[in-house]
Amino acid sequence: MTPCPVTADARIDLHAHSTASDGTLTPAELVRAAADAGLDVLAITDHDSTAGWAPAVAALPPGLTLVRGAEISCRWYDAQPPVALHLLAYLFDPEEPELSAELARVRAAREVRGERIVELLRADGVDLSWPEILAAAAGGTVGRPHIAQALIRAGLVATTTEAFGPDWLGQRYRLPKADIDVFRAVRLVRAAGGVPVFAHPRASRRGPIVPDELIVELAAAGLAGLEADHEDHSPAEREHVRALAARLGLFVTGSSDFHGTHKTVRLGAFTTAPEAYARIVAEAGGVTPVAST
Ligand code: AMP
Ligand code: FE
Ligand code: FE
Ligand code: ZN
Repeated sequence: MTPCPVTADARIDLHAHSTASDGTLTPAELVRAAADAGLDVLAITDHDSTAGWAPAVAALPPGLTLVRGAEISCRWYDAQPPVALHLLAYLFDPEEPELSAELARVRAAREVRGERIVELLRADGVDLSWPEILAAAAGGTVGRPHIAQALIRAGLVATTTEAFGPDWLGQRYRLPKADIDVFRAVRLVRAAGGVPVFAHPRASRRGPIVPDELIVELAAAGLAGLEADHEDHSPAEREHVRALAARLGLFVTGSSDFHGTHKTVRLGAFTTAPEAYARIVAEAGGVTPVAST
């Protein structure tokens, strides 16, 4: 039997962040906010971490089904320079040794990179404190949004968007992350019983995007779906992703990529069809969705 079946009109949001990475709600607050937003299914997908899973499950409000997932920092190495991309992974076994070791490696590398970014800023006279930024991340996967918050607190920029502009973290003080080769990530997610979905594949305002040919290759390597409906995609881009998915036999998802107050998008701003959710559940073999009884 399929665990946690949903009705045809279910509201399903498969991409949200908590304080286990760069969101501003704790995992417990996140699941409560999802229920308050009228969602039936929420996926918690923190960057490179499953630390939010247990507290989210413990706080699950009645009526909400939780899909445990993560958003994995990946790179496509065949391009010059290599292109960074994000892979959503759903319902994988969090204890599968190879995948969990890779996630731990990426999290550790993010700390080194964050400290280097702060050193670059300090060398230019910007008085930020790395220990303070790390403390504010409170054990969650640290990222540029945490540095952006420090820039705001210091009065140097007014908004996160400004902090991600070219004068700051978007270019001048941007350093690459140590991420996972995307083909290896797809393989590891599948080996851990998870279902890999390419997050916001056409989000060009975040940086370079990959050609469709790579998505064709990834589909052959085990990719299951494409995130089509996302705030960083124009209507034309959403259609393009939908057509590509149909051609390759992949499902499409829609999701908010909620980050609390680090972004303006609301939970449930974009949603996923129950059929796509059903495919994720059917293909998964790591963990199951959970609902409070
Ligand atoms: P990092 O993982 O450290 O490279 O930081 C990337 C994260 O920053 C993404 O996951 C988003 O949450 C956030 N982000 C990226 N671009 C922007 C932007 N223009 N405005 C606000 N947040 C952004
Ligand atoms: Fe993020
Ligand atoms: Fe992302
Ligand atoms: Zn995300």
